[in-house]
Amino acid sequence: MNGVNHCCVMTKINTLVMEDRAAPPGPGPYDVVVVPKMTGLCGSDMHVFLEGRAGESLFSDPLVLGHECAGVVAQVGSNVKTLKVGDRVALEPGAACLRCENCKSGDYNQCGDFKFAAADGFDGTLQGYYTLPADIAYKLPDNVSLAEGALMEPLAVAVMSVSKVAKIGHNQNVAIFGAGPVGLLTMAVAKALGARRILAIDVNASRLEFAKQYVGAETHLAIPMNPGEAREDYSKRHGKYIMEKFGLGERGLEAIDLVVECSGAEVCVQTGIWLVKRRGKFVQVGAGPAHNLIPMSIFVNKEVTMIGSLRYGPGCYPMAIDLVSRGLVDLKPLHTHTFPFKDAILAFETTKKAMGPDGKPAIKVMIEGPI
Ligand SMILES: [Zn+2]
Ligand SMILES: [Zn+2]
Repeated sequence: MNGVNHCCVMTKINTLVMEDRAAPPGPGPYDVVVVPKMTGLCGSDMHVFLEGRAGESLFSDPLVLGHECAGVVAQVGSNVKTLKVGDRVALEPGAACLRCENCKSGDYNQCGDFKFAAADGFDGTLQGYYTLPADIAYKLPDNVSLAEGALMEPLAVAVMSVSKVAKIGHNQNVAIFGAGPVGLLTMAVAKALGARRILAIDVNASRLEFAKQYVGAETHLAIPMNPGEAREDYSKRHGKYIMEKFGLGERGLEAIDLVVECSGAEVCVQTGIWLVKRRGKFVQVGAGPAHNLIPMSIFVNKEVTMIGSLRYGPGCYPMAIDLVSRGLVDLKPLHTHTFPFKDAILAFETTKKAMGPDGKPAIKVMIEGPI
């Protein structure tokens, strides 16, 4: 570990600056210092970068961005027994206190003292050294690359929603709103865990084409709203339209057992409630506007179980890594672009436009390094 730490720092909205800082002190007894090698960008990075907030988290400057990361262990704390220098690891970017009521009951994503990379003043992984507790640095099997390791973060989000929160059963029909990276990975996990039908819904035809190729999803391009139509009327019409188009019922073998909403758009939330079967499950992953109107009477009438899913919890990273290592989820097709550290701004621009300087559509953009 040399004395300089190269950092990519967000100094204000829409501004990145390269800065050299002093290398961090050695790790605490239960920590490891990791050299980040690959950091992926996602929608929440873009919200922080362009709007100064993501969900409930507010930007406070200056901040090192990046939270989807894999790297190589450079130093281990004196009590760390699970890792050694040189191990390749996927980094879970949120450190919980492990002492509060939620942590002690196993729901550490609800920790009251959570320190998440690139949020609330905690620096992220776009730097030369990143220190974290060893128990949230997961050793990668030899057949999993560092780029795939960085994609474990959004994959863990998908594992959380489909496995831990929805507890998907055998032979279930799943509808997924939003075919961006998290939506696609949600489809991949649903497929790996035995989903019967996967229905992908989006407003973008090329994303849907990708979903069809990627997991064999049935796809639906959202129909347009009529002039002057209220959103809730559109959503009801849209839900019924999808049910008819795909031969879905409110009960039985061809009913939607589970909706996973990854877009956050109000009309998708509403449409999903119309679409799901009686006593079906609705899991909300996407963080859109702070407030959404939902069709309460049909929600109650059908006795829908609606649950929020935030980040990931115990076992999600190990399961994500195992699904990839066993070949049940393929992350490679999602990784479309890689930029060297010095061109980090190009990576942000590519993510923003969803299009690379090479003219190819971008799904997951990675930044290498800095070292
Ligand atoms: Zn992310
Ligand atoms: Zn806690």
